[in-house]
Amino acid sequence: MKRNKKILITGGAGFIGSHLTERLVKEGNEVTILDNFLSGKKENLKELKVKIIKADISQKIPFLEFDEIYHLASLASPVFYQKYPIETILTNSLGTYNLLLLAKEFNSKILFTSSSEVYGNPLQHPQKEEYWGNVNPIGVRSCYDESKRIGETLMMDFHREYGVEIRIARIFNTYGPKMNLNDGRVVPNFIKQALKNEPITIYGDGKQTRSFCYISDTIEGLIKLMDSDYVGPVNIGNPKEITILELAERIKKLTNSKSEFVFKELPKDDPIRRCPNITRAKEILKWEPNIGLEEGLEKAVNWFKGVIFS
Ligand code: UDP
Repeated sequence: MKRNKKILITGGAGFIGSHLTERLVKEGNEVTILDNFLSGKKENLKELKVKIIKADISQKIPFLEFDEIYHLASLASPVFYQKYPIETILTNSLGTYNLLLLAKEFNSKILFTSSSEVYGNPLQHPQKEEYWGNVNPIGVRSCYDESKRIGETLMMDFHREYGVEIRIARIFNTYGPKMNLNDGRVVPNFIKQALKNEPITIYGDGKQTRSFCYISDTIEGLIKLMDSDYVGPVNIGNPKEITILELAERIKKLTNSKSEFVFKELPKDDPIRRCPNITRAKEILKWEPNIGLEEGLEKAVNWFKGVIFS
C-alpha cells in the first residue's frame, strides 16, 4: 500500500488515468494531475482531492518535484488519435522527453504507459515482450504506434544514459466505467448500440480478435509495476482472446437487445489478432487479471446505462 507519496499523473482526467487517480488518492497519496483536457474530463475527477494543472506536456511542464510520475497522457482511441495525429505524436515523444527531464532532475520514478499497438499487426501469438512487432511506419495508425515505440526508446535511453528509474507498461485493450461513450472504441460502441436497440456495427467480418481487460485489473497491474524494480516493457492485459463478433453476441445477450448486426468496412491497418502473453507480469509482479469478461461487461453495461438513460 502506498502512502504520503507525491505523485504526478499525466492524463489523470482520462479513462485509465482517473481510475488510477482515485485509487492512489484513496491510499493516502498527494496526487497532482496534468491534463490538457483534449479527451480527459473534469467530471471524471469529481469529489477527488487532487491538484489539477491544465497543460500540454509536449509544450511546457511545471518544474515540480514528485516521487513518482505515471505518464498516461495520450489519445488512445483510433478515432480520436487519427483526428489529432500530430498532437498524438508530440505527446508521446516530446511529452515523454519533457517528463523524463523532470524525472532526471528530481530522481523521480517514471512509468510510461505504452501499448499493445507497439506490436502493430502482430505475426506472433500471443504477443511476448521480446517480439519487436510488425508496424506500418507511414499508415493512419502510425501516429500512435510509432510514437509509443519512440516513447519506449526514450525511456530506455534515459535509463541507460542517466540511470533514471523507468517502468514501461504495454497496455492491451481495457474497458470499464468512465470510458468515453463516444470515443468510437468497440466496447462503448457496442454497449451503446445494444442498449438503444440500434444496429451493432461490426467492422470487417468480425473475426479479428482482441483481449479485453477490466479497468481495476489494469490499475492493479500498473501500481504493481511501479512498485517493482523491473526495467523494461511488461504486458498488462487479459490473455482471454475473443473475436469481435463474439463480443457483439455477448453484449447483445447481456443487454437483452433487439439490435441487429451490420457489417462495415474494416478500418485501415486494423490488427487481425491481439492477445498478450502475461508470463512476465505473472512472474515479476505476481499479477494477473481476476475479473472475467462476463462480470466486467456487466459492470460496464450498468455504468453506461446510467450515462445513457439518466
Ligand atoms: N470495431 C468494430 N465496431 C466498432 C468499433 C470497433 O467492429 O463499432 C472493431 C475494430 O475494427 C477493431 C476492434 O473492434 O477490430 C477494436 O477496436 P477499438 O477501436 O476498440 O480498439 P483497437 O484495439 O483497434 O485499438
